[in-house]
Amino acid sequence: MTDFTNKSVLVLGGSRGIGAAIVRRFVADGANVAFTYSGSPEAARQLATETGSTAFSTDSADRDAVIARVRDSGPLDVLVVNSGIALFGDALEQDPDAIDRLFRINVHAPYHASVEAARQMPAGGRIIVIGSVNGDRMPLPGMASYALSKSALQGLARGLARDFGPRGITINIVQPGPIDTDANPADGPMKDLMHSFMAIKRHGRPEEVAGMVAWLAGPEAGFVTGAMHTIDGAFGA
Ligand code: NDP
Repeated sequence: MTDFTNKSVLVLGGSRGIGAAIVRRFVADGANVAFTYSGSPEAARQLATETGSTAFSTDSADRDAVIARVRDSGPLDVLVVNSGIALFGDALEQDPDAIDRLFRINVHAPYHASVEAARQMPAGGRIIVIGSVNGDRMPLPGMASYALSKSALQGLARGLARDFGPRGITINIVQPGPIDTDANPADGPMKDLMHSFMAIKRHGRPEEVAGMVAWLAGPEAGFVTGAMHTIDGAFGA
């Protein structure tokens, strides 16, 4: 546990799954936490009530709304960009508008949110983006857009680490393997195939990812930037 008392944390996409675990973790560690949601207002309301965090409706596919939300949050000590979607299917059949929306949520939002946060972020600030082991390894067909979007985050971290490092701001990517959430339930139809790729044959827990995020946001990680941090039971090994 790290003491985040008086630290200001914004989690983009915090209403459910990994994002909600990250919200809970920072609240438990004493931070002032705000998070965004889009499609799950009831889950967001419940989480905000339970934790004392603040929920904002902000669609991560809307660039200007994302920038405004980050700007209006004031100086952030920690920005976590968690919102992300996956689309499965035959690349030849997929709707190009849906694919472009995925890129807006998974790639454009992390870029613009990170840059906007850095405008006001103090020295010691932390930017953490949730990528995926699929940024390194995509062993299945039908997910090229998702893999592309998560690989793109690697370039984001490498580049912005150079831009913001001199100001004492770090940026890192957390790359989970299969994690038990609505998007990838531990008892889903793909579980045996996914576990066959892994050394630890289970889904991870959202809290395990939140623990890595908290470490990256804390004082021990001040020398860690521009890097990918994989937490995947060796899915990508
Ligand atoms: P879930 O689908 O369970 O939750 C997604 C979260 O992102 C929700 O809080 C959702 O909020 C939010 N979100 C999605 N789209 C938008 C949007 N347009 N605007 C605002 N918020 C949005 O996913 P996970 O928790 O499983 O995944 C979280 C992140 O982790 C994603 O980036 C995903 O790619 C990544 N990841 C997940 C893995 C897994 O196995 N679960 C593995 C590797 C990476 P709302 O419902 O309110 O819109």
